[in-house]
Amino acid sequence: MPRIAVIPGDGIGTEVTRQAVKVMERAAALSGRTLEVTHWDMGAERYLRTGVAITEAEFRALAEDYDAILLGALGDPRVADDAHLREILLGLRFRLDLYVNYRPNVLLDPRLSPLRNLDGRPVRVDIFRENTEGAYVNLGGIFRKDTPDEVAIQEDLNTRRGVERIVRAAFEYARMRGRPRVTMVDKANALPAAGSLWRRVFTEVGAGYPEIEQDAMFVDAAAMDLVRRPERFAVVVTSNLFGDILSDLAAAVTGGLGLAPSANVHPGRHALFEPVHGSAPDIAGRGVANPLAAIRCVALLFEYLGDPGLAERVENAAVAAIAGGKTTPDLGGSLTTDQVGDWVAAALAAAPPRSS
Ligand code: ATP
Repeated sequence: MPRIAVIPGDGIGTEVTRQAVKVMERAAALSGRTLEVTHWDMGAERYLRTGVAITEAEFRALAEDYDAILLGALGDPRVADDAHLREILLGLRFRLDLYVNYRPNVLLDPRLSPLRNLDGRPVRVDIFRENTEGAYVNLGGIFRKDTPDEVAIQEDLNTRRGVERIVRAAFEYARMRGRPRVTMVDKANALPAAGSLWRRVFTEVGAGYPEIEQDAMFVDAAAMDLVRRPERFAVVVTSNLFGDILSDLAAAVTGGLGLAPSANVHPGRHALFEPVHGSAPDIAGRGVANPLAAIRCVALLFEYLGDPGLAERVENAAVAAIAGGKTTPDLGGSLTTDQVGDWVAAALAAAPPRSS
């Protein structure tokens, strides 16, 4: 029986996770599957109360005792620099070595795109963001702080091993899903050392996937094309920082943060699923948070657990909610977070996977 650790977290994280768990349990029940779901109290409240974000024993338990982790969102204005977020989320990413950050951006309904010249062209941009190095390793420091001569250095770390494994993950995914092209995004003209490594590794690894089209783009050009002609992308592989930025842009182009799920994975070992959005303190507690990103995380989770039929059922029910206008105000609907969750859970029975 798959064991799932659920960390609702902060702000709207708790609200959307409640809906995701509801949908997850209902979907499992419909197909006769049992899940063991355990809730973890981790977030700003606990950090402010105890001064501890996550213990060593909890890291170990999350690493060893669960098949997958479902996270809502972390972040609270009362915690300086979101210290608890860094400890928990970045801690899990680095310690479980979750080197693949997979962010699918699918235009589920043409009405959701802010682009006015798409003319019904389908958009699906699967972003593979390197998740354990790049500009996020926090190498560097500040010198002569608060003086006119202050210096800040922030290194961008790229290893052959790190680049190779994310590039391979992107190609493997493209092959498995029959995606036509993998695009590598860098800034090789201005940042030639990192760019040179990424380009050489991309060519080397890509040689093993001759059936897949392969191209490289500068990140500024990629940003422009995500707006101008997003349909030219299939799979995108890129560094931690560029992936962070481009995936928010790709999410905006395909319906906004309220819909975008993500998976942090070490293939074959560990996986953590979370919506791309944060804890959104500005709308927390008002019942208006869109739960569909968190619900779509459940689809990714089922896929990872080896149940594509269940994944499809959840995704189909989310798509049906959008098509029927059963949405929160960010998508133009008038339902509350709970009502959308209830609607999707009820729609699961009527949204069987195409494959069954
Ligand atoms: P961070 O990215 O640093 O965690 P944050 O928590 O302040 O930032 P996000 O949660 O990423 O912000 O979202 C930015 C804005 O997008 C929010 O202020 C909110 O208005 C909107 N938003 C984000 N997620 C949702 C959602 N699920 N439903 C509706 N609106 C959302």
